[in-house]
Amino acid sequence: MEFEDMKLRRELLMGIFEAGFEKPSPIQEEAIPTALTSRDILARAKNGTGKTAAFVIPSLEQVDVGKPKIQALLLVPTRELALQTAQVCKILGKHMGVQVMVTTGGTTLKDDIIRLSESVHVLVGTPGRILDLAGKGVADLSECPVFVMDEADKLLSPEFAPVMEQLLSFLPQERQVMLFSATFPMIVKDFKDKHMRSPYEINL
Ligand code: AMP
Repeated sequence: MEFEDMKLRRELLMGIFEAGFEKPSPIQEEAIPTALTSRDILARAKNGTGKTAAFVIPSLEQVDVGKPKIQALLLVPTRELALQTAQVCKILGKHMGVQVMVTTGGTTLKDDIIRLSESVHVLVGTPGRILDLAGKGVADLSECPVFVMDEADKLLSPEFAPVMEQLLSFLPQERQVMLFSATFPMIVKDFKDKHMRSPYEINL
């Protein structure tokens, strides 16, 4: 399958080709068409397989840029990964007019509050800071249908797991969960059973 066959909007395809991606990687070929049907995705994937674009592309495709609301929440375990993931969103979404914001601990909350008073379509960050913003009513996740967890084994470590549970309560009931993880410890399986609906499973 080619990117052209994935029924992506033209502006997104332009971003993909400008990034130098000619053909989808195996994980992208598996994940993107299914993710575009809003089905939950559970993927076992290592770094270097193109997994970031595998969830960024369907996340971007599902954003309505005319609507000034957070429509995709991309959670990652570290600041560095948040910055990288947001960068991929900006590069691939360059021609869409999509507003991407990254937030992690270690920056001032005030700057985030100012940024969130403007239009943000895609929010990328680490769980603690996002929960803080959602809890304060600054980040409105109530109309955010797309929820991505990258490196979910780390996101569900004892340090983060309670935060993840709380965060989910700010998202709408009708939501798509895309979970990517290199390993599937019990805690990830429990999360799947509790929070995902017949996910499409990818094992590459
Ligand atoms: P990731 O596994 O998401 O960390 O991606 C690994 C590397 O592959 C990154 O440098 C991406 O820019 C690159 N990449 C991802 N998808 C493609 C693709 N379809 N074609 C060429 N390079 C890609």
